[in-house]
Amino acid sequence: MTDFTKLIEGYRRFHDNYFVADEQLFAELSQGQKPSTLVIACSDSRVDPAIVMDCKPGDLFVVRNVANLVPPYEKGGGYHGVSAALEFAVRALKVEHIIVLGHRQCGGIKALFEGIPDSMESEFIGPWVNMARRAADRVRADYPDSSADEKLCECEMGGIIVSLENLRTFPWIQSGLNEGTLKLHGWYFDIVSGEMRAYDDNTLTFNTLS
Ligand SMILES: [Zn+2]
Repeated sequence: MTDFTKLIEGYRRFHDNYFVADEQLFAELSQGQKPSTLVIACSDSRVDPAIVMDCKPGDLFVVRNVANLVPPYEKGGGYHGVSAALEFAVRALKVEHIIVLGHRQCGGIKALFEGIPDSMESEFIGPWVNMARRAADRVRADYPDSSADEKLCECEMGGIIVSLENLRTFPWIQSGLNEGTLKLHGWYFDIVSGEMRAYDDNTLTFNTLS
């Protein structure tokens, strides 16, 4: 069976086992969405937020991109895909939580920290991940003696912190934080151990979710 055939058969199972079986949920969802949480996750195929958080359709509004990055608030030119999704989630859907979901073994963060391999032709990844270069700079300054793997893990967590910092540059996110209607969360999924860690902005550490 090819991978693509697997997708068609997967759709059929979804239709029969979920769409038809959970008639009430999908009837409600056909009236509109009201997710309470926006997730900014990596495009990595191994870290699907709905699966990792065991959610149903309608639970999460999701943006996925290389290295789960949020750009700073900028009005000028360009196609602001992440900012448009943030705007819709926060201003129209009025989500109560934003989770930046990073992960171990992130290829985007590796490209940021170690550069893009010569063997790979790339036009867009370098400038995109460079948005989080201050995370890489912090790791180089703070963890000079750590192993390559430890540095990458620290940079992955640092990238989450950069995204959290950039989220605060959006005025309507900052006002939601000030009014207490919105909360920001940084989560780090360790794809090796299965552990999820959450950022504590009081202690400035990532702690295992229990
Ligand atoms: Zn990634």
